[in-house]
Amino acid sequence: MKWSISAGRIFGIKLRIHLTFFLLPLFVFFSDIKEGFGQAGLSVLFVCAIFACVVIHELSHSLVARRFGREPKSIMLLPIGGVATIDMMPNKPLQEIVISIVGPATNIVIAILLALVGGSSMAVALKNHSNLTASEMFIFDLIAANIMLAIFNLIPALPMDGGRVFRSILALKFGFLRATLWAVTIGKAIAVLFVVLGFFYNPWLALIGLFIFSGANSEKQQAIYLTMLAQRPPDLTIPPEYINLGQDDRLP
Ligand SMILES: [Zn+2]
Repeated sequence: MKWSISAGRIFGIKLRIHLTFFLLPLFVFFSDIKEGFGQAGLSVLFVCAIFACVVIHELSHSLVARRFGREPKSIMLLPIGGVATIDMMPNKPLQEIVISIVGPATNIVIAILLALVGGSSMAVALKNHSNLTASEMFIFDLIAANIMLAIFNLIPALPMDGGRVFRSILALKFGFLRATLWAVTIGKAIAVLFVVLGFFYNPWLALIGLFIFSGANSEKQQAIYLTMLAQRPPDLTIPPEYINLGQDDRLP
């Protein structure tokens, strides 16, 4: 994990922060400084709150994977989101569906909890046609961000959660490798669309597109490797007659 620093462990899982991540709060701070130091600080706090939700999202994948006996290796924070690294099990599509879907579901649960905390005072403000306070606005935006995170992660582009669910559904019928190749093709098509749209409208979308494209390639390589590993002969030990070499033996 080059260019990343350790941020400790959560539930025994390594949390790492990619150095490029720190560009995001800096960018947000200097973008909003024209609206005052307080507003810029609040924007940075909001970014931190979103990424706390991202960590909870990745943690939910990791902890559910652990319940299935798979080892969550690490959680990495990047400026475009989080990545949970978990051992891949090609022959467990139903497990993969549960592990993948729990992330977006966690964001929906966070949104509901936030609505329960701030919903009543927000409803009163809206009823009285008064403006939301800064804290109400903060909670409102965080609810919206969590709903967006859930929807965005469900886009069926491997390696995103929706892509993993899509691959696993295909794998039930076509097997892991063919399912992965299909999901990678669709993931790359969506990635190219993101890059093109992002180029015109939003640079972050273009970055996410590039991330999905390179992630889809890694998924393909990993699927080929795991399939070859599963198909290797069951016993590759060398027959005894080939290893009984004495000190004085010479190769021909
Ligand atoms: Zn996820």
